[in-house]
Amino acid sequence: MATIAFIGLGNMGAPMMRNLLKAGHTVFAFDLSEAACKAASDAGATVAGKPAEAAAQADVVVTMLPAGQHVRDVYMGAGGVIAAAKPNSLFIDSSTVDVSSARAVAEAATAAGHVMVDAPVSGGVGGAEAGTLTFMVGGSDEAFARAQPILANMGKTIVHAGGSGTGQAAKICNNMILGISMIAVSEAFALAEKLGLDAQKLFDIASKSSGQCWSLTSYCPVPGPVPTSPANRDYVPGFAAGMMLKDLKLAVEAGQVAGSPLPLGAEAAQMYALFCNAGNAGVDFSGIVKMLRGQA
Ligand code: NAD
Repeated sequence: MATIAFIGLGNMGAPMMRNLLKAGHTVFAFDLSEAACKAASDAGATVAGKPAEAAAQADVVVTMLPAGQHVRDVYMGAGGVIAAAKPNSLFIDSSTVDVSSARAVAEAATAAGHVMVDAPVSGGVGGAEAGTLTFMVGGSDEAFARAQPILANMGKTIVHAGGSGTGQAAKICNNMILGISMIAVSEAFALAEKLGLDAQKLFDIASKSSGQCWSLTSYCPVPGPVPTSPANRDYVPGFAAGMMLKDLKLAVEAGQVAGSPLPLGAEAAQMYALFCNAGNAGVDFSGIVKMLRGQA
């Protein structure tokens, strides 16, 4: 069993940390929120006064933070975990962040004699609670081999995507496909309605034809055809539009840095920005169909 520092105990981090405790690991936990620290202590973790204090006592550091700047601060800022950790510690960052931040932090960690993986997740809060997350892992073979058994306590599918930053690359490429395809499916249902084509009939045909995709068959944006989709519960998330916007912005930014044109990715980011700015950031991302119908 390992001694693990867990930093960032929010909607995702708290249940992930609890699964590490359940697996028998010793956890030193830290979050800026007192309520989150209290809940971690109630669950059986030892609360540390700052990230460096948690890292100094651990062999493994796991972080689950909002964005790239938080990750840079916690690892490389004054009192950061890279300087505080024992030699040859393993760092696992499961936050969704920009590829440049992931690579910068991993480089600093490696230079200081540690190993690091970026390991963003898909599966949401439900997957974090059930321990069934998918981890997309970027890092060396050695780093992946050391991270794999820890990640297996929190997830079901663990894929080594390649070198440092490729976990984040996989996450934003996948979610860009999802954002674009959800808009495509939503436009088709809005058009069908105007043309007098019943939504269920469109579903029955398109789900067996070349328009078939996950946004249609598993997460249909109109009520009826897929009873488990958020459309059937007034678009309560699921996956909030604000989080989709975050991931699309990361994709657009990565496209600019890498010189890869993303005309549809950029358009999808703009449409989700419009949807979120109209007060829908907390609505499920499939609710964008309401905007396309002129209802949001
Ligand atoms: P959250 O806002 O609920 O949690 C983030 C936590 O980090 C908060 O408790 C906050 O207090 C803490 N924090 C911020 N700065 C800190 C610091 N310097 N030191 C210590 N703690 C700090 O966010 P979340 O929903 O748990 O998401 C975390 C990450 O996972 C994000 O990058 C998000 O994009 C990604 N993600 C979320 C979901 C989801 O469904 N919620 C799904 C996949 C990926």
